Amino acid sequence: MKAHLIFATLLLAATSYASTGSPFYGDPPDGCHPWCVHDWNRPQPPRVEPGPAKPCPPPAGAVVLCDGTDATLQANWESDKDGSPTKWIIRDGAMECVPKSGYIRTKGKFGDCRLHVEWAAPTKVEGESQGRGNSGIFLLGVEIQVLDNYNNPTYADGSACSIYGVAPPLANALRPPGEFQQIDITFRSPIYKDGQCLDPGYVTVYCNGVLVQDKTQLEGPSGHRGRSKPGPLPESGPLRLQDHGNPVRFRNIWCQPLPPRKPETGIHGAFSVEETTAMRKKLAAAIRDDAAKMPANSLDQMLRFAESLVYEKDEPTFQKVEQMFAQYVAGVKQLSADQLTGKKDEVKLMFRIFQYLAKFNIVPAGFAPKADLDRIVKAHGWDKEKK
Ligand code: MG
Repeated sequence: MKAHLIFATLLLAATSYASTGSPFYGDPPDGCHPWCVHDWNRPQPPRVEPGPAKPCPPPAGAVVLCDGTDATLQANWESDKDGSPTKWIIRDGAMECVPKSGYIRTKGKFGDCRLHVEWAAPTKVEGESQGRGNSGIFLLGVEIQVLDNYNNPTYADGSACSIYGVAPPLANALRPPGEFQQIDITFRSPIYKDGQCLDPGYVTVYCNGVLVQDKTQLEGPSGHRGRSKPGPLPESGPLRLQDHGNPVRFRNIWCQPLPPRKPETGIHGAFSVEETTAMRKKLAAAIRDDAAKMPANSLDQMLRFAESLVYEKDEPTFQKVEQMFAQYVAGVKQLSADQLTGKKDEVKLMFRIFQYLAKFNIVPAGFAPKADLDRIVKAHGWDKEKK
Protein backbone atom coordinates (compact mmCIF):
# COMPACT_ATOMS: atom_id res chain seq x y z
CA MET A 1 0.00 0.00 0.00
CA LYS A 2 1.32 3.43 -0.87
CA ALA A 3 2.26 5.72 1.99
CA HIS A 4 -0.51 8.29 1.45
CA LEU A 5 -3.14 5.56 1.34
CA ILE A 6 -1.90 4.13 4.60
CA PHE A 7 -2.05 7.61 6.09
CA ALA A 8 -5.63 8.15 4.83
CA THR A 9 -6.73 4.79 6.22
CA LEU A 10 -5.17 5.49 9.58
CA LEU A 11 -6.80 8.93 9.66
CA LEU A 12 -10.24 7.45 8.95
CA ALA A 13 -9.71 4.79 11.57
CA ALA A 14 -8.61 7.36 14.12
CA THR A 15 -11.71 9.50 13.43
CA SER A 16 -14.00 6.48 13.63
CA TYR A 17 -12.55 5.17 16.85
CA ALA A 18 -12.77 8.60 18.41
CA SER A 19 -16.51 8.79 17.60
CA THR A 20 -17.24 5.45 19.25
CA GLY A 21 -14.81 6.00 22.09
CA SER A 22 -13.39 2.54 21.61
CA PRO A 23 -10.99 0.66 19.38
CA PHE A 24 -12.89 -1.58 16.97
CA TYR A 25 -16.24 0.06 17.77
CA GLY A 26 -18.71 -1.51 20.24
CA ASP A 27 -19.48 -5.13 21.01
CA PRO A 28 -18.13 -7.45 18.28
CA PRO A 29 -20.11 -9.38 15.64
CA ASP A 30 -21.91 -12.51 16.75
CA GLY A 31 -23.96 -15.33 15.25
CA CYS A 32 -26.72 -13.08 13.87
CA HIS A 33 -24.99 -9.68 13.69
CA PRO A 34 -22.25 -9.41 11.04
CA TRP A 35 -21.19 -5.98 12.26
CA CYS A 36 -19.90 -4.61 15.54
CA VAL A 37 -22.21 -2.22 17.36
CA HIS A 38 -21.45 1.29 15.93
CA ASP A 39 -19.40 -0.28 13.14
CA TRP A 40 -18.02 2.15 10.57
CA ASN A 41 -17.78 -0.75 8.10
CA ARG A 42 -21.58 -0.96 8.04
CA PRO A 43 -22.94 0.73 4.86
CA GLN A 44 -24.12 4.30 5.17
CA PRO A 45 -27.86 4.88 4.57
CA PRO A 46 -28.43 6.24 1.06
CA ARG A 47 -29.49 9.85 0.71
CA VAL A 48 -33.16 10.42 -0.19
CA GLU A 49 -34.29 14.00 -0.75
CA PRO A 50 -37.54 14.57 1.18
CA GLY A 51 -40.55 16.31 -0.35
CA PRO A 52 -41.72 19.71 0.85
CA ALA A 53 -42.73 19.99 4.51
CA LYS A 54 -46.46 20.11 5.26
CA PRO A 55 -48.09 20.81 8.63
CA CYS A 56 -49.01 17.70 10.57
CA PRO A 57 -51.47 18.74 13.28
CA PRO A 58 -52.52 16.21 15.93
CA PRO A 59 -55.56 14.11 15.04
CA ALA A 60 -58.56 14.01 17.37
CA GLY A 61 -57.86 12.00 20.47
CA ALA A 62 -54.07 12.42 20.33
CA VAL A 63 -52.27 13.46 23.51
CA VAL A 64 -50.53 16.76 22.76
CA LEU A 65 -47.20 16.73 24.58
CA CYS A 66 -45.64 19.84 23.10
CA ASP A 67 -47.24 22.64 21.12
CA GLY A 68 -44.29 24.98 21.55
CA THR A 69 -45.72 26.78 24.58
CA ASP A 70 -44.37 26.92 28.10
CA ALA A 71 -47.75 25.64 29.31
CA THR A 72 -47.38 22.25 27.57
CA LEU A 73 -43.68 22.06 28.52
CA GLN A 74 -44.44 22.49 32.22
CA ALA A 75 -47.62 20.41 32.15
CA ASN A 76 -46.20 17.38 30.36
CA TRP A 77 -42.45 17.20 30.98
CA GLU A 78 -40.15 16.86 33.97
CA SER A 79 -36.54 16.11 34.73
CA ASP A 80 -35.79 12.44 34.10
CA LYS A 81 -33.32 12.47 36.98
CA ASP A 82 -35.63 13.30 39.85
CA GLY A 83 -39.01 14.40 38.51
CA SER A 84 -38.31 18.06 39.26
CA PRO A 85 -39.49 20.79 36.84
CA THR A 86 -37.52 20.65 33.61
CA LYS A 87 -34.82 23.19 32.89
CA TRP A 88 -35.38 22.93 29.15
CA ILE A 89 -36.73 26.20 27.77
CA ILE A 90 -39.18 27.53 25.20
CA ARG A 91 -37.64 29.60 22.43
CA ASP A 92 -39.43 30.81 19.29
CA GLY A 93 -42.28 28.34 19.54
CA ALA A 94 -40.21 25.25 20.32
CA MET A 95 -38.80 23.62 23.43
CA GLU A 96 -35.04 23.54 23.51
CA CYS A 97 -32.61 21.29 25.27
CA VAL A 98 -30.42 23.21 27.69
CA PRO A 99 -27.10 21.34 27.58
CA LYS A 100 -26.17 19.59 30.81
CA SER A 101 -29.67 20.10 32.25
CA GLY A 102 -30.37 16.40 31.74
CA TYR A 103 -32.86 14.18 29.96
CA ILE A 104 -36.54 15.03 30.23
CA ARG A 105 -39.47 12.63 30.40
CA THR A 106 -43.22 12.87 30.07
CA LYS A 107 -45.30 12.84 33.20
CA GLY A 108 -47.71 10.50 31.44
CA LYS A 109 -46.92 6.90 30.56
CA PHE A 110 -47.21 5.29 27.15
CA GLY A 111 -46.91 1.78 25.72
CA ASP A 112 -47.70 0.94 22.10
CA CYS A 113 -48.19 4.23 20.32
CA ARG A 114 -48.03 6.34 17.24
CA LEU A 115 -45.77 9.27 18.00
CA HIS A 116 -45.19 12.42 15.97
CA VAL A 117 -42.15 14.54 16.81
CA GLU A 118 -40.61 17.51 15.04
CA TRP A 119 -37.04 18.42 15.88
CA ALA A 120 -34.43 20.83 14.58
CA ALA A 121 -30.67 20.79 15.06
CA PRO A 122 -28.93 24.10 15.74
CA THR A 123 -28.43 26.27 12.65
CA LYS A 124 -24.87 26.91 13.72
CA VAL A 125 -23.08 23.73 12.71
CA GLU A 126 -20.68 22.53 15.38
CA GLY A 127 -19.06 19.17 16.00
CA GLU A 128 -18.69 16.04 13.94
CA SER A 129 -20.36 12.67 13.79
CA GLN A 130 -22.23 12.06 17.07
CA GLY A 131 -21.19 15.47 18.38
CA ARG A 132 -23.50 17.42 16.07
CA GLY A 133 -27.14 18.11 16.96
CA ASN A 134 -27.49 14.94 19.02
CA SER A 135 -30.54 14.08 21.09
CA GLY A 136 -32.83 11.06 21.11
CA ILE A 137 -36.41 9.93 21.48
CA PHE A 138 -36.75 7.04 23.93
CA LEU A 139 -39.76 4.72 23.97
CA LEU A 140 -39.54 2.22 26.82
CA GLY A 141 -35.75 2.47 26.62
CA VAL A 142 -35.50 2.13 22.83
CA GLU A 143 -33.81 5.18 21.29
CA ILE A 144 -34.84 6.56 17.94
CA GLN A 145 -31.76 8.63 17.28
CA VAL A 146 -31.95 12.39 16.85
CA LEU A 147 -28.81 13.64 15.14
CA ASP A 148 -27.78 16.26 12.64
CA ASN A 149 -26.10 13.96 10.20
CA TYR A 150 -27.02 16.05 7.21
CA ASN A 151 -23.68 16.03 5.37
CA ASN A 152 -22.21 14.58 8.53
CA PRO A 153 -21.40 10.87 8.32
CA THR A 154 -21.44 8.81 11.46
CA TYR A 155 -21.58 5.10 12.17
CA ALA A 156 -24.67 3.75 10.42
CA ASP A 157 -26.46 2.45 13.51
CA GLY A 158 -26.12 5.86 15.12
CA SER A 159 -27.60 7.84 12.20
CA ALA A 160 -30.69 9.99 12.61
CA CYS A 161 -33.74 7.70 12.86
CA SER A 162 -31.62 4.65 13.59
CA ILE A 163 -32.74 2.40 16.37
CA TYR A 164 -29.60 3.34 18.16
CA GLY A 165 -26.99 0.62 18.14
CA VAL A 166 -29.34 -1.83 16.40
CA ALA A 167 -30.70 -0.77 13.03
CA PRO A 168 -29.59 2.02 10.69
CA PRO A 169 -32.36 3.90 8.87
CA LEU A 170 -33.15 2.78 5.33
CA ALA A 171 -32.32 6.27 4.12
CA ASN A 172 -30.95 9.62 5.18
CA ALA A 173 -33.90 11.93 4.46
CA LEU A 174 -32.88 14.80 6.70
CA ARG A 175 -33.44 18.47 6.02
CA PRO A 176 -30.55 20.89 6.65
CA PRO A 177 -29.74 21.96 10.23
CA GLY A 178 -32.10 24.65 11.52
CA GLU A 179 -35.05 23.21 9.61
CA PHE A 180 -37.55 21.03 11.47
CA GLN A 181 -37.54 17.29 10.75
CA GLN A 182 -40.91 15.55 10.91
CA ILE A 183 -40.61 12.12 12.51
CA ASP A 184 -43.50 9.66 12.66
CA ILE A 185 -43.03 6.56 14.78
CA THR A 186 -45.22 3.50 15.25
CA PHE A 187 -44.00 1.61 18.27
CA ARG A 188 -45.09 -1.93 19.09
CA SER A 189 -43.64 -3.37 22.25
CA PRO A 190 -42.69 -7.06 22.57
CA ILE A 191 -45.41 -9.36 23.88
CA TYR A 192 -44.32 -12.12 26.23
CA LYS A 193 -46.53 -14.63 28.00
CA ASP A 194 -45.25 -17.14 30.52
CA GLY A 195 -41.72 -16.39 29.38
CA GLN A 196 -42.56 -17.11 25.74
CA CYS A 197 -42.21 -14.42 23.06
CA LEU A 198 -45.51 -14.09 21.16
CA ASP A 199 -44.43 -10.94 19.29
CA PRO A 200 -40.90 -9.48 19.34
CA GLY A 201 -42.13 -5.90 18.88
CA TYR A 202 -41.51 -3.55 15.99
CA VAL A 203 -40.77 0.05 15.14
CA THR A 204 -41.79 1.80 11.95
CA VAL A 205 -40.43 5.29 11.33
CA TYR A 206 -40.98 7.91 8.65
CA CYS A 207 -38.52 10.81 8.43
CA ASN A 208 -39.95 13.77 6.54
CA GLY A 209 -42.40 11.41 4.86
CA VAL A 210 -39.71 8.90 3.81
CA LEU A 211 -39.90 5.37 5.24
CA VAL A 212 -36.72 4.81 7.23
CA GLN A 213 -37.63 1.95 9.58
CA ASP A 214 -39.86 -0.68 7.98
CA LYS A 215 -41.39 -2.59 10.87
CA THR A 216 -37.91 -3.17 12.26
CA GLN A 217 -37.83 -5.89 14.87
CA LEU A 218 -36.89 -4.73 18.35
CA GLU A 219 -33.82 -6.09 20.10
CA GLY A 220 -34.28 -4.62 23.55
CA PRO A 221 -33.40 -1.26 25.05
CA SER A 222 -30.71 0.83 23.31
CA GLY A 223 -27.27 1.20 24.78
CA HIS A 224 -23.98 2.81 23.79
CA ARG A 225 -21.47 0.30 22.37
CA GLY A 226 -23.27 -2.62 24.02
CA ARG A 227 -25.16 -5.29 22.08
CA SER A 228 -28.77 -5.01 23.18
CA LYS A 229 -30.72 -8.18 23.87
CA PRO A 230 -34.33 -9.03 23.01
CA GLY A 231 -36.64 -9.37 25.97
CA PRO A 232 -39.76 -7.97 27.56
CA LEU A 233 -40.02 -4.23 28.08
CA PRO A 234 -42.13 -2.47 30.70
CA GLU A 235 -45.83 -2.39 29.80
CA SER A 236 -45.72 1.39 29.71
CA GLY A 237 -43.44 4.21 30.72
CA PRO A 238 -42.65 7.84 30.07
CA LEU A 239 -41.33 9.03 26.72
CA ARG A 240 -37.87 10.50 27.19
CA LEU A 241 -35.83 13.04 25.26
CA GLN A 242 -32.06 13.04 25.47
CA ASP A 243 -29.72 15.81 26.55
CA HIS A 244 -26.57 14.97 24.60
CA GLY A 245 -25.09 18.40 25.09
CA ASN A 246 -26.59 20.06 22.00
CA PRO A 247 -29.41 22.66 22.01
CA VAL A 248 -31.75 20.59 19.83
CA ARG A 249 -35.28 22.01 19.54
CA PHE A 250 -38.61 20.16 19.58
CA ARG A 251 -42.14 21.12 18.64
CA ASN A 252 -45.48 19.57 17.69
CA ILE A 253 -45.11 16.37 19.70
CA TRP A 254 -48.23 14.26 19.98
CA CYS A 255 -48.96 10.66 20.78
CA GLN A 256 -51.81 8.28 20.05
CA PRO A 257 -52.01 5.08 22.08
CA LEU A 258 -52.54 2.08 19.78
CA PRO A 259 -55.07 -0.73 20.22
CA PRO A 260 -53.80 -4.12 21.40
CA ARG A 261 -52.65 -6.75 18.90
CA LYS A 262 -53.82 -10.28 18.10
CA PRO A 263 -51.85 -12.09 20.83
CA GLU A 264 -53.78 -9.92 23.27
CA THR A 265 -57.19 -9.76 21.56
CA GLY A 266 -57.26 -12.65 19.10
CA ILE A 267 -58.71 -10.31 16.48
CA HIS A 268 -56.15 -8.37 14.42
CA GLY A 269 -53.36 -9.98 12.42
CA ALA A 270 -52.60 -13.15 10.48
CA PHE A 271 -54.20 -16.40 11.64
CA SER A 272 -52.78 -19.90 11.51
CA VAL A 273 -54.95 -22.71 10.08
CA GLU A 274 -55.76 -23.93 13.60
CA GLU A 275 -56.61 -20.44 14.84
CA THR A 276 -58.80 -19.83 11.78
CA THR A 277 -60.74 -23.07 12.30
CA ALA A 278 -61.28 -22.27 15.97
CA MET A 279 -62.38 -18.70 15.24
CA ARG A 280 -64.79 -19.79 12.47
CA LYS A 281 -66.29 -22.38 14.81
CA LYS A 282 -66.80 -19.74 17.46
CA LEU A 283 -68.39 -17.31 14.98
CA ALA A 284 -70.74 -19.98 13.60
CA ALA A 285 -71.85 -20.98 17.11
CA ALA A 286 -72.57 -17.35 18.04
CA ILE A 287 -74.61 -16.85 14.83
CA ARG A 288 -76.59 -20.06 15.46
CA ASP A 289 -77.31 -18.92 19.03
CA ASP A 290 -78.51 -15.60 17.65
CA ALA A 291 -80.71 -17.34 15.06
CA ALA A 292 -82.25 -19.59 17.73
CA LYS A 293 -83.58 -16.50 19.53
CA MET A 294 -85.37 -15.17 16.42
CA PRO A 295 -89.07 -15.83 15.66
CA ALA A 296 -89.35 -19.49 14.68
CA ASN A 297 -89.38 -20.18 10.93
CA SER A 298 -89.16 -16.45 10.10
CA LEU A 299 -87.23 -15.31 7.04
CA ASP A 300 -84.68 -13.64 9.35
CA GLN A 301 -84.14 -16.84 11.28
CA MET A 302 -83.73 -18.87 8.10
CA LEU A 303 -81.12 -16.47 6.72
CA ARG A 304 -79.25 -16.25 10.02
CA PHE A 305 -78.98 -20.05 10.21
CA ALA A 306 -77.82 -20.05 6.57
CA GLU A 307 -75.23 -17.38 7.40
CA SER A 308 -73.72 -19.62 10.08
CA LEU A 309 -72.92 -22.19 7.35
CA VAL A 310 -70.60 -19.63 5.72
CA TYR A 311 -68.30 -19.98 8.75
CA GLU A 312 -68.72 -23.66 9.54
CA LYS A 313 -70.25 -26.65 7.78
CA ASP A 314 -72.52 -28.08 10.43
CA GLU A 315 -74.70 -30.96 9.24
CA PRO A 316 -77.71 -30.48 11.59
CA THR A 317 -77.80 -26.76 10.70
CA PHE A 318 -77.49 -27.55 7.00
CA GLN A 319 -80.44 -29.93 7.20
CA LYS A 320 -82.49 -27.34 9.06
CA VAL A 321 -81.62 -24.66 6.48
CA GLU A 322 -82.40 -26.99 3.58
CA GLN A 323 -85.81 -27.73 5.07
CA MET A 324 -86.56 -24.03 5.69
CA PHE A 325 -85.44 -23.08 2.18
CA ALA A 326 -87.60 -25.86 0.68
CA GLN A 327 -90.63 -24.60 2.64
CA TYR A 328 -89.91 -21.04 1.54
CA VAL A 329 -89.66 -21.96 -2.14
CA ALA A 330 -92.79 -24.15 -1.90
CA GLY A 331 -94.61 -21.07 -0.54
CA VAL A 332 -93.31 -18.90 -3.39
CA LYS A 333 -94.51 -21.46 -5.94
CA GLN A 334 -98.07 -21.18 -4.55
CA LEU A 335 -98.25 -17.39 -4.93
CA SER A 336 -100.52 -15.83 -7.53
CA ALA A 337 -98.87 -13.75 -10.24
CA ASP A 338 -99.79 -10.51 -8.42
CA GLN A 339 -98.56 -11.81 -5.05
CA LEU A 340 -95.28 -12.91 -6.64
CA THR A 341 -94.76 -9.50 -8.20
CA GLY A 342 -95.36 -7.98 -4.76
CA LYS A 343 -92.58 -10.15 -3.35
CA LYS A 344 -90.21 -9.55 -6.24
CA ASP A 345 -87.45 -7.85 -4.22
CA GLU A 346 -87.49 -10.56 -1.56
CA VAL A 347 -87.42 -13.36 -4.13
CA LYS A 348 -84.53 -11.71 -5.98
CA LEU A 349 -82.66 -11.38 -2.70
CA MET A 350 -83.16 -15.10 -2.04
CA PHE A 351 -81.99 -15.84 -5.58
CA ARG A 352 -78.74 -13.94 -4.94
CA ILE A 353 -78.29 -15.65 -1.58
CA PHE A 354 -78.62 -19.07 -3.22
CA GLN A 355 -76.13 -18.02 -5.90
CA TYR A 356 -73.63 -17.01 -3.22
CA LEU A 357 -74.09 -20.22 -1.24
CA ALA A 358 -73.71 -22.38 -4.36
CA LYS A 359 -70.73 -20.39 -5.71
CA PHE A 360 -68.75 -21.05 -2.54
CA ASN A 361 -69.98 -24.66 -2.16
CA ILE A 362 -71.82 -23.87 1.04
CA VAL A 363 -74.77 -25.65 -0.52
CA PRO A 364 -74.24 -28.32 -3.22
CA ALA A 365 -74.60 -27.47 -6.90
CA GLY A 366 -77.80 -29.53 -7.18
CA PHE A 367 -79.45 -27.92 -4.13
CA ALA A 368 -83.17 -28.55 -4.83
CA PRO A 369 -84.67 -25.29 -3.44
CA LYS A 370 -82.17 -23.29 -5.53
CA ALA A 371 -83.10 -25.12 -8.74
CA ASP A 372 -86.79 -24.38 -8.13
CA LEU A 373 -86.23 -20.69 -7.33
CA ASP A 374 -83.89 -20.30 -10.32
CA ARG A 375 -86.70 -21.47 -12.63
CA ILE A 376 -89.17 -18.92 -11.17
CA VAL A 377 -86.73 -16.00 -11.32
CA LYS A 378 -85.51 -16.82 -14.83
CA ALA A 379 -89.07 -17.24 -16.12
CA HIS A 380 -89.68 -13.58 -15.20
CA GLY A 381 -86.29 -12.40 -16.49
CA TRP A 382 -85.45 -11.09 -12.99
CA ASP A 383 -82.00 -12.70 -13.14
CA LYS A 384 -81.11 -10.25 -15.95
CA GLU A 385 -82.03 -7.21 -13.87
CA LYS A 386 -79.43 -5.31 -11.92
CA LYS A 387 -79.99 -5.38 -8.18
MG1 MG B 1 -28.81 10.35 20.84
